[in-house]
Amino acid sequence: MKIGRFIYQDRIVWGILDNDGIRVLGSLPFCELKVDKEIPHLGVKLLAPVQPSKIVLVGLNYKDHAQELGMPVPLEPIIFLKPPSAVVGPEEDIVYPPVVNRLDYEAELAVVIKKKCKNVKEEEVNDFILGYTCLNDVTARDLQKKDGQWTRAKSFDTFCPIGPWIETDIDPCNLKIRSYLNGKLKQNSTTANFTFSVPFLVSFISKIMTLLPGDVISTGTPPGMGEMNPGDIVEIEIEGIGILKNKVAI
Ligand code: MG
Repeated sequence: MKIGRFIYQDRIVWGILDNDGIRVLGSLPFCELKVDKEIPHLGVKLLAPVQPSKIVLVGLNYKDHAQELGMPVPLEPIIFLKPPSAVVGPEEDIVYPPVVNRLDYEAELAVVIKKKCKNVKEEEVNDFILGYTCLNDVTARDLQKKDGQWTRAKSFDTFCPIGPWIETDIDPCNLKIRSYLNGKLKQNSTTANFTFSVPFLVSFISKIMTLLPGDVISTGTPPGMGEMNPGDIVEIEIEGIGILKNKVAI
């Protein structure tokens, strides 16, 4: 099932996307799903399918990416945060800040949390996950190196494209993940290369901070991340979910 958030007749609504149309939900998608009415796809604009209280990201979580960088595989997840103000949806612009000299894309699988989650065991995490979506961990690589810590480099407005919708019915352990820059394949891996699995990550993070409905955990990027420039089109494609497409603008 694909759950999206979109603008319909000047209102923001949630809905289930089918081939024939959209079944609009009478409530948020974190409780029992009740369909209000059905509408066509026409005239609907997709928004980011989440309004998180926080976005928790994982660094260096692909074994093939650690190899590419010549770095050891971490013994524990390396985590950091992006602010909710960085979120943009499908087809929205990534704005290239004037103080940045090198801007990179990073294709990532994102987990969307369904209900309040604290100290959850690995074998219980599925009850706390609503579904999965694509995320671009946009990074000012020059500032990341310069600052030593990552907050500024990862947190500019528009540095967290998410979407196009939440897929609720996939197994995250072996999904093809790719990125394209202006239609050219740049990253091409599978989540089978994760160092830390989704259940491990959700459990690990829930022992640090309380996760709330709509919060996002992004699971790291595979090899091949690279530079974007104004005018470029970047696409993140994940098997079973779809394609998240954004343009870089000044
Ligand atoms: Mg990343």
